[in-house]
Amino acid sequence: MGKPTGFLDFERQKVKDRHPRERMGDFREFLVPLNPAERRTQASRCMDCGVPFCQSNYGCPVDNLIPEWNDLVYNGKDYEAFTRLRKTNNFPEFTGRVCPAPCETACVLGVTSPAVTIKDNEAWIIDNAYEKGWMVPVPPTSRSGKKVAVIGSGPSGMAAADQLNQAGHYVTVFERSDRLGGLLMYGIPNMKLDKELVEKRFGLMEAEGVEFRTNTFVGKDVMADQLVKDFDAVLVATGATKPRDLNVPGRQLKGVHFAMEFLSANTKSLLSSNLSDGNYISAKGKKVIVIGGGDTGNDCLGTSLRHGCISLDNFEVLPQPSEGRTEEFPWPTYPRLYKADYGHAEAVDKFGKDPRVYSISTKEFLGNDRGELTGLVTIDVAWTKDEKGAWKMAEVAGSERTWEADLVFLALGFLGPEETLVQQLGLEQDARSNVKATYGKFQTNHPKVFGAGDARRGQSLVVWAINEGRGAAREIDKFLRS
Ligand SMILES: Cc1cc2nc3c(=O)[nH]c(=O)nc-3n(C[C@H](O)[C@H](O)[C@H](O)COP(=O)(O)OP(=O)(O)OC[C@H]3O[C@@H](n4cnc5c(N)ncnc54)[C@H](O)[C@@H]3O)c2cc1C
Ligand code: SF4
Repeated sequence: MGKPTGFLDFERQKVKDRHPRERMGDFREFLVPLNPAERRTQASRCMDCGVPFCQSNYGCPVDNLIPEWNDLVYNGKDYEAFTRLRKTNNFPEFTGRVCPAPCETACVLGVTSPAVTIKDNEAWIIDNAYEKGWMVPVPPTSRSGKKVAVIGSGPSGMAAADQLNQAGHYVTVFERSDRLGGLLMYGIPNMKLDKELVEKRFGLMEAEGVEFRTNTFVGKDVMADQLVKDFDAVLVATGATKPRDLNVPGRQLKGVHFAMEFLSANTKSLLSSNLSDGNYISAKGKKVIVIGGGDTGNDCLGTSLRHGCISLDNFEVLPQPSEGRTEEFPWPTYPRLYKADYGHAEAVDKFGKDPRVYSISTKEFLGNDRGELTGLVTIDVAWTKDEKGAWKMAEVAGSERTWEADLVFLALGFLGPEETLVQQLGLEQDARSNVKATYGKFQTNHPKVFGAGDARRGQSLVVWAINEGRGAAREIDKFLRS
């Protein structure tokens, strides 16, 4: 344990943000790291608990060795902290930036005081490793001769590819997009996760021997059964990319888009031409409404603000969460809390009000005679519990409101993987249409085919995708060696 009284002596200090007004002018990352001395102070707040809940079932999904690397950072053993972090997490530079950090809501210190800054400590360890030149390709020393095809280059496919390559198997990753990374590349915007970091990491994997085939849609450009013939094992890590729609009158109007149409095209144009090619949906000078209050919705807010929208509202059908833990979410569970994410803070700075409207449902989109969106109609909803304790929603009579809008982004979640590949491989699906494969085994009904990440568990988090990719790699390795 670093400093026995660290948690008593020092306050929690998060990384600082660039001011919203400044950061809204660009798509660069906005977190400003602490200096090394400040970071060691933060690491010293860890109590090295007898039962470290940060690593428990409620905490870190990849079982990061959190108290160990906190102690190493406090004691200035940065290289050792880096090697300890590398044991459990293939991509800490991604989780250190975008993870909602269930480790922190499970941290024991959080019972009485603000939790240890675990996520920021993680990002600092790996960023420091890049800066010091410790991140170099380390190819495996021998090869098994076995070949594995990974379909999908999101965090689950890439974590599996990394593990399997390190275990000595020949790995080929097939990606239908022009760039690698899945939602790390074309979902999460650049200001939250710099795409240079994504490219740098996958460049290392390529130097270590992983083969990448971009612009290759498995099921169209390469037939799935051909992969099964050509490879010793196949991993389906294709994500949950079917968006949930809002089928109300006027859905076909020009100006109503799925969030991913907006976010993906924006990042692609940003990387290809710094938004000069015009190949994206611009929110400049537009009245924007984002429907859906999760991460994706917030990313639509941040992107619209950077384009220069002239008004911004964000609808959520659920009620506003409480600001502190409730009986429903006791420690150490991950609570649903009311908090301001970066897009909300930026909207407050620009328009003087929080864009979020809770307990509201969209009834209809309105348009003009050219088929263009001009607005929408909403109704308020009320939530009550029935006699069994289940939540029930009811519309509030007479609460209809009309809103002006030129652009609406639907950020309503995802409904599992696309069907083409699943059907070509004859894979069974679960009740939610995900690829059916037991967690921990990851093997589908086809003995050579495994499933991992959002394609198997449904829409989730980067850290869970890494967990699943690592687990699937372990099972594929056992299968290949048996
Ligand atoms: C806008 C947005 C913001 C998010 N923000 C966060 C966040 O801040 N923090 C967080 O933890 N999580 C976040 N998430 C969730 C997180 O990104 C996902 O849970 C995670 O990326 C899932 O990883 P995956 O590897 O399973 O799938 P994906 O990342 O979806 O990757 C799947 C890949 O498979 C490819 N593919 C699909 N079908 C084929 C095929 N037939 N042939 C070849 N390639 C194919 C796709 O092109 C894609 O590249 C966010 C999600 C979205 C949509
Ligand atoms: S639960 Fe918090 S204080 Fe305890 S070991 Fe983990 S990070 Fe440190």
